[in-house]
Amino acid sequence: MSFLHGIAASNGIAIAKAYRHVDQDLSFEKKTIDHTDAEVERFNAAVKKANSELEAIRDRAKVDLGADKAAIFEAHLLVLNDPELTGPIIDKIYTEKVNAESALSETADMFIMMFEQMDNEYMRERAADIRDVTKRVLSHLLGVQMMNPGMICEEVIMVAEDLTPSDTAQLNRQFVKGFTTNIGGRTSHSAIMARSMEIPAVVGTKTATEEINHGDLVVVDGLKGEVHINPTTEVVEQFRKMAEKYEIQKAEWAKLVNEKTVSADGHHVELAANIGTPNDLTGVMTNGGEGVGLYRTEFLYMGRDQLPTEEEQFEAYKAVLEGMNGKPVVVRTLDIGGDKELPYLDLPKEMNPFLGFRAIRLCLEEQDIFRTQLRALLRASIYGNLKIMFPMIATLDEFRSAKAILEEEKQKLVSEGLQIAQKIELGIMVEIPSTAILADQFAKEVDFFSIGTNDLIQYTMAADRMNQRVAYLYQPYSPSILRLVKMVIDAAHAEGKWAGMCGEMAGDETAIPILLGLGLDEFSMSATSILKARSLICNLKKSDMEKLAEEVLTMQTTSQVIEAVKYTTK
Ligand code: PEP
Ligand code: MG
Repeated sequence: MSFLHGIAASNGIAIAKAYRHVDQDLSFEKKTIDHTDAEVERFNAAVKKANSELEAIRDRAKVDLGADKAAIFEAHLLVLNDPELTGPIIDKIYTEKVNAESALSETADMFIMMFEQMDNEYMRERAADIRDVTKRVLSHLLGVQMMNPGMICEEVIMVAEDLTPSDTAQLNRQFVKGFTTNIGGRTSHSAIMARSMEIPAVVGTKTATEEINHGDLVVVDGLKGEVHINPTTEVVEQFRKMAEKYEIQKAEWAKLVNEKTVSADGHHVELAANIGTPNDLTGVMTNGGEGVGLYRTEFLYMGRDQLPTEEEQFEAYKAVLEGMNGKPVVVRTLDIGGDKELPYLDLPKEMNPFLGFRAIRLCLEEQDIFRTQLRALLRASIYGNLKIMFPMIATLDEFRSAKAILEEEKQKLVSEGLQIAQKIELGIMVEIPSTAILADQFAKEVDFFSIGTNDLIQYTMAADRMNQRVAYLYQPYSPSILRLVKMVIDAAHAEGKWAGMCGEMAGDETAIPILLGLGLDEFSMSATSILKARSLICNLKKSDMEKLAEEVLTMQTTSQVIEAVKYTTK
């Protein structure tokens, strides 16, 4: 039995066999062969196996993920069955007398290079399809088992170097009981997705993929941030008991599902949920969310090979607004960049993607993308209580430009005779220090603020939220961060506006007492954190927390703040 330490990214305990999601070794030697007919037959057999495998994945994806995600595999099937690709491979085996592996990869490389150099974006994307299909056929030629996470049909713990947000979105929650990764932090998007999918997760273990073999029995303790590999039966039993205890605790919290969130001295705050897709609404309801405080729309754009149409977006926004039945829904416009990439936009690689061309910066430049999203949102606005929020606003000019574009689209829709809601609140994420510092000026023009601490902390401390080695600087309770948060809340209140928080800090047990004391109006968090947070707030007196907040703002270090919170709330 061995043991790994990581970051507790999503609560709960999972026990299952390991499924290693790692790149396979597909290396081979180039050989000359005598029996060309047999080699062609070997190639054809590998193509056939890849074909049946892809058909099965496509059918499964259609059922589990919908036709749009399944379209990726449809494209792979087209490539695999294209004689323009397979013909030259077979010719090469006959004429050059080389093994199928090298005929395949040399021919594919030639096509990939050709497609990648084309002007047309659609054709460039085909290069990625050829690369994927080549790997699949190669794996059959070499007898290496390919990893197909979408095909998992037994309970597993996923073990990976990292999971991209689209990898995570494709995990089947019925079978993937937990996951653990080498890299990532509490606010990396795989961690955020794990929380919204209620999958226990431990990230940032550094060596999970080295220490864990495919099929090992693994315990993921998402409460403590520990991973146990091949534990003894006694240890497994202990964890089963802990998992049961956690379920009992959850049942206690569940009693608060229809309650309002009111402190022990009668102050009401709103507890909302962060969501990534309309599917997350079930979690919002079962966890008693009083609204959606952050709808991360970028997931609509991910795990596919082209931009979503206005109509597709309209349907998604309408579904969320109707699903929330008049409760507030804050939709954030596209926030792509950083650790959320869109390969099909073909944006140049940047030295510092978190400081680069992302979010509102991209939307103000690529206005077609932005306007399509705004139109879809405006059209959906009549189906519920929509609030629109712009991400990564650094200057008032950016906010004004984005607002002007929104107004233009509003006017166009009205002149086309379409109906839009009378009042749509317009707010911004405060996640860049310049905006927090200038919050008093912003507050005159926006309807609300939502503090994005995931980014605000990384930009204030100059510590990449994905970088393990500087994770010690990622300090939500640092007095510097708390002072910025206070500035934003006070600025909003001075102008009669509301201030929320949708960074992970809003659902953090140590931060909540301070935030209540600072006067935060809305706390938006992973749906699974809501009931626990409600139970905590209902037991706190706001007047006591005001004193706590005042005290911690004068402190010097994070550890002093943590001690003060412990002392006041014990
Ligand atoms: C944030 O930065 O706090 C936030 C909520 O946005 P994201 O995590 O999507 O960057
Ligand atoms: Mg952010």
